[in-house]
Amino acid sequence: MRHVLIAGGAGFIGSHLTDRLLARGCSVTVVDDLSTGSLANLQGVLDHPRFTYRNADVCDPGALQGIDLDVIFALASPASPVAYQSRPLATLAAGSAGTRTCLAAATDQGARMVLASTSEVYGDPLCHPQPESYWGNVNPIGERSMYDEAKRFAEALATAYRREHATNVGIVRIFNTYGPRMDPADGRAFPAFISAALRGEPLTVHGDGMQTRSLCYVDDLVAGLERMADSDHPGPINLGNPDERTILELAHAVIAACQSSSPVVFTERPPDDPSQRCPDITRAREVLGWEPRVPLAEGMLAMVAAYRAEVAQA
Ligand code: NAD
Ligand code: UDP
Repeated sequence: MRHVLIAGGAGFIGSHLTDRLLARGCSVTVVDDLSTGSLANLQGVLDHPRFTYRNADVCDPGALQGIDLDVIFALASPASPVAYQSRPLATLAAGSAGTRTCLAAATDQGARMVLASTSEVYGDPLCHPQPESYWGNVNPIGERSMYDEAKRFAEALATAYRREHATNVGIVRIFNTYGPRMDPADGRAFPAFISAALRGEPLTVHGDGMQTRSLCYVDDLVAGLERMADSDHPGPINLGNPDERTILELAHAVIAACQSSSPVVFTERPPDDPSQRCPDITRAREVLGWEPRVPLAEGMLAMVAAYRAEVAQA
């Protein structure tokens, strides 16, 4: 990997990937419109001699023009329910037109592309844990449809480019990921819980908190993305940590990690909120030789420390 483009590289996952690839010796260009990301995430690399930033919307077909590429990571999309529900049309555009811009560039330059899809393509899964062979249970007009269907379309588009143009694209389905640089205001469970616990405010759990998620630390996740770029596998390949927990359990774990005395309060579950989610990562283990290494307790402490530092600076 030499010339790497990260579409959406000013976001949470993309900025960690940028750090990792620069450390490996790659030249990295980030293209981002800063709609949900921030240059603060790239603060440590803006002056790096092998780093370039371009402000552009990937839905613009000319967004990647003139950039020399061996590898493209297509990460540009709102990712949290609050972010994608507040901009449904932009989310659908990112998954469709944005993915097409990346696929066209990968095809023209003979580059390897990694498409960031999501566990949300499984919807509210009836099959548990979820293998890649499961087709999902998605409401096409529901409150999450702009994200779920955008990503499903992106997968279909990538598959069509591979079939019609032999584009070397690989699909990864990313499960819930956490770590420093997650936007504390993006409404996702970990950022919301940690921010509340550090302020001594109540943690709001949706429903009875018995729904489950399986959380992967960001360092593990970006190692998986890198392995996918190094392979020629078409995917889809699940990337996530199969350590499944209830949301209530996670809330109490956060309170303990923050040494907080915040209470837990309960509110209504949002519609179509998946009841269970856990990746089957057999394929990632076999094809990429990848599996997550960072235990939840350790990753959570790193994220709490980063948030504590931000709160102290604010
Ligand atoms: P993020 O919101 O922090 O990062 C996304 C980045 O894309 C932001 O910097 C944003 O400004 C940029 N962006 C959005 N639309 C754009 C556009 N049209 N043109 C240019 N830039 C654009 O989200 P994240 O958590 O880092 O997620 C990165 C990718 O991984 C997304 O594609 C997301 O769907 C996928 N994913 C993330 C998770 C997770 O748990 N974080 C889980 C599954 C899939
Ligand atoms: N959740 C919650 N309180 C919050 C934010 C989220 O109870 O403040 C719940 C949410 O309803 C879901 C789970 O936590 O059941 C994970 O939500 P998140 O938005 O982090 O991820 P996603 O639903 O996209 O997997």
